[in-house]
Amino acid sequence: MNFASQLTHPVFKAVGEEADRKGEAAFAIGGFVRDLILNRPCKDIDIVVEGSGIDLAKAAAKELKAGKVAVFKNFGTAMFRCQDMEVEFVGARKESYQRGSRKPIVEDGTIEDDQNRRDFTINAMALRLNADGFGDLVDPFGGLSDIEDQIIRTPLDPDVTYSDDPLRMLRAVRFASQLGFHIEKRSLDAIERNAERLDIISAERIHVELNKILLSPRPSVGFKLMMKTVLLHRFFPEMVALKGVERRNGIGHKDNFYHTLEVVDNVAMVSQSLWLRWAALLHDIAKPPTKRFHPDHGWTFHGHEDRGARMVPKIFKRLKLPLDHQMKYVQKLVLLHLRPIALTKEEVTDSAVRRLLFEAGDDVDDLMKLARADITSKNEAKVERYLRNYEVVVKKLIEVEEKDRVRNFEPPITGEDVMATFGIPPCRPIGAIKNLIKDAIMDGIIPNDPAAARALMMRYGPVVLDAWKSIQSRLSEGEFNEKGAREAFDAWLESVEVSPNP
Ligand code: ATP
Ligand code: MG
Repeated sequence: MNFASQLTHPVFKAVGEEADRKGEAAFAIGGFVRDLILNRPCKDIDIVVEGSGIDLAKAAAKELKAGKVAVFKNFGTAMFRCQDMEVEFVGARKESYQRGSRKPIVEDGTIEDDQNRRDFTINAMALRLNADGFGDLVDPFGGLSDIEDQIIRTPLDPDVTYSDDPLRMLRAVRFASQLGFHIEKRSLDAIERNAERLDIISAERIHVELNKILLSPRPSVGFKLMMKTVLLHRFFPEMVALKGVERRNGIGHKDNFYHTLEVVDNVAMVSQSLWLRWAALLHDIAKPPTKRFHPDHGWTFHGHEDRGARMVPKIFKRLKLPLDHQMKYVQKLVLLHLRPIALTKEEVTDSAVRRLLFEAGDDVDDLMKLARADITSKNEAKVERYLRNYEVVVKKLIEVEEKDRVRNFEPPITGEDVMATFGIPPCRPIGAIKNLIKDAIMDGIIPNDPAAARALMMRYGPVVLDAWKSIQSRLSEGEFNEKGAREAFDAWLESVEVSPNP
């Protein structure tokens, strides 16, 4: 087979010519070749040369006027950008793994040696770049026919391949999920046998594969494979705990593992966002620890959204995922995931919708996608009813949003305003007055505008301050301690009924 007609990027000819000048054999190899055959977009090209990768990179970059070459001396690799492509160069190498050591012994080798150390047959193909035989496929393990048959297979004995570098087990699952391929039976068995070896792999390398699985067209494919091969058990016990159905008095509950995967797949159909997919993956993560059986009303998972949100940081930390805004976003969606549907159970009031808009802020659209994806049931009538209700909430959200613009609610009265108006230093009543105004807006008692907010502050500010002063004087007379005073003030605030007009 020859692929010369597809090697149109100028880099290939230039590399071939420079390699010819040096009298060395050079090849494009690995993921690039696989993706070319599969017609998948690919932004990086790996070049292997039977010689020095660094020298060839420098020569080719010069010829192409490609600009700066990044050299990684310790790895013997070099890289440059050429148009839209990142091109990486390495000398062909031979790797041998010793028992008991994770680091292989690496020596210079031939293209054949280099192909031998690759993980899967579909990743071990090379295309010759020298003028003589330009574009020829070098495919010692039958990668091309494995692509046709859609099979993930290791070039060597899978037990050896996986034991040498256990990350390859996760890569096998990832490619199966990304490409929709099957993992060969021999490989599947070997993964199950070697799953424990994943423990020596860093969390960073694991989460890279996990994210690629989540970003694949149907992430459930990868998660089912990880469950089956017990890879998931090595780094994600909370997900393993979702699996299974318990029955009591003849009453069962959903299998939350399969339900979760359905929700992730549903979200994947409507969004490419990695973090929304993470939110879907974790939305029910606290169902096992909150599960209770009541003889009268069956299985409940009370508070799983709250508990789940609190589990997110621990999971993100363990997997070394980013702990800043991405994690906060996932936490927020897990916490709020029941709210849109809960809204449909009662009469949908403007006030409840406003509060949801306020709490979700700019993430409300993603929250609605998650809530929509979460409507899964074998009972079609139930699904239809939920979907109708869901549409009602969506309509209501749009109405309220247009009317009130509360999505990015900024309180119309600040703490400074309150202090200046009443001539008081920082103290508890300021927050209380601000809250009272916010609640009045959320409940639709006053409109979301500064004049109305100011009028409300003028009416209720003095009342709040009086209540505070009276509680303070009772505190100084020893009627309360500090904590008691705070509680008395909070209780008083709870009892205040705000009315729209004087
Ligand atoms: P993608 O770029 O889509 O993540 P890829 O297969 O191209 O997938 P890279 O990390 O870019 O993955 O690696 C390029 C090539 O290097 C692979 O196609 C494979 O031939 C080889 N390779 C990468 N990781 C391993 C590994 N752990 N064991 C053996 N070979 C590997
Ligand atoms: Mg790649």
